[in-house]
Amino acid sequence: MLVLVINCGSSSVKYDLIDTEHQKGYCRGLVERIGAVTSIVKHQPENGKNTKETKVIQNHTEALKEILSYLLGPDSKVISSVSDIKAVGHRVVHGSDMFKDSVLIDDDVKEAIEQAFDLAPLHNPPNLKGIEAAMAALPDIPHVAVFDTAFHHSLPPKAYLYGIPNRLYRRYKIRKYGFHGTSHYFVSRQYFKLILDKPSKTKVISCHLGNGASIAAIEGGKSVDTSMGFTPLSGMVMGTRSGDIDPSILFYLVEKEELPLSNLHALLNRHSGLLGLSGFAADMRDLILEAENGDRRCQQAIDVFTYKIRQYIGSYMATMNGCDAIIFTAGIGENSALIRQKAVENMEFLGVKLDEDRNEAAKPGEITRISQDDSRVAVYVIPTNEELVIAIDAAKIAQASDQSPWI
Ligand code: AMP
Repeated sequence: MLVLVINCGSSSVKYDLIDTEHQKGYCRGLVERIGAVTSIVKHQPENGKNTKETKVIQNHTEALKEILSYLLGPDSKVISSVSDIKAVGHRVVHGSDMFKDSVLIDDDVKEAIEQAFDLAPLHNPPNLKGIEAAMAALPDIPHVAVFDTAFHHSLPPKAYLYGIPNRLYRRYKIRKYGFHGTSHYFVSRQYFKLILDKPSKTKVISCHLGNGASIAAIEGGKSVDTSMGFTPLSGMVMGTRSGDIDPSILFYLVEKEELPLSNLHALLNRHSGLLGLSGFAADMRDLILEAENGDRRCQQAIDVFTYKIRQYIGSYMATMNGCDAIIFTAGIGENSALIRQKAVENMEFLGVKLDEDRNEAAKPGEITRISQDDSRVAVYVIPTNEELVIAIDAAKIAQASDQSPWI
């Protein structure tokens, strides 16, 4: 089934056209800087030339029109008719405590996504905008919402409750939700396929290390803890996000610098993390280069990042009473042998023995075991594919729905 996967940000629409039967991408692309004087439109067809143009795209509806007209266009010929697309899968960041699974979108679902605006003000509003625009452009096929939070619904209360008055949890749903669920789900399933085993007893620690970073403890195939929390700001130090800090720092800063709330928000979301620590860059490649050139603060940023990974691995091994495999994924996890090495070197006492040659030799895009044969804990690099998870879920739900073109 051909599924269009859509991931909308406040000024961007990312798409991926996927054939779920053959698990193959046909075309992907991105419209960015929507609403600016000029927007950038990129398309990467599987069998064709990549294109990059500047155009005037005022809103998400125009972005969707632009994407469909490219897919149908004489130059790309990716599809011959919009009716080739049988379903649309939408990435929705926050499903609050309402969505345990992906769901066919109707008015109630849209309203529930809107109710979660407060919980993810940067993500859910544009996600809903994308849903509205895509439903208007493709009104006759099923649209499915796939939530970043859904996989973490299995967290037990001891992992998701914060040490604040319980009435705040009951009144405002303040709890840990966790994110990157589709990625943690995908790589853990890839691992289960690899070892030809059912997930029933297996314990996995999945390290999604990209610009956003989170680590998840997965037991019996279910997420039992994860580093992100109420919002995607907490846990690991990330590209520009601070990760966990002592909450008192906020009170202190309000007093010392008289910062309004909006500035604190920007400080922790956009000016902290690797960028804030290094004072140089959020991009791990730049930091590694500068650290090699002797920049002390870039080196410190890398050290803080890898120290945090080690802390999470140790802590999840303790809470799960061991672990069978550690998985590295996403931009940094898949591509940086150095970060992987610093994250798990000298961990023999926990049963982790890294094979440095295998680690160095791991190729982008391939599943690679990077631990030694006799390592009690296997360590793997497994490329993530969140879009495929969204497409497969959308196809499953679309096929089962009344709106399916086959019924
Ligand atoms: P993502 O958000 O998954 O696209 O990952 C983006 C992050 O991956 C950025 O910090 C990149 O610098 C990092 N990254 C990509 N390739 C490499 C590489 N070869 N070495 C180190 N970091 C990389």
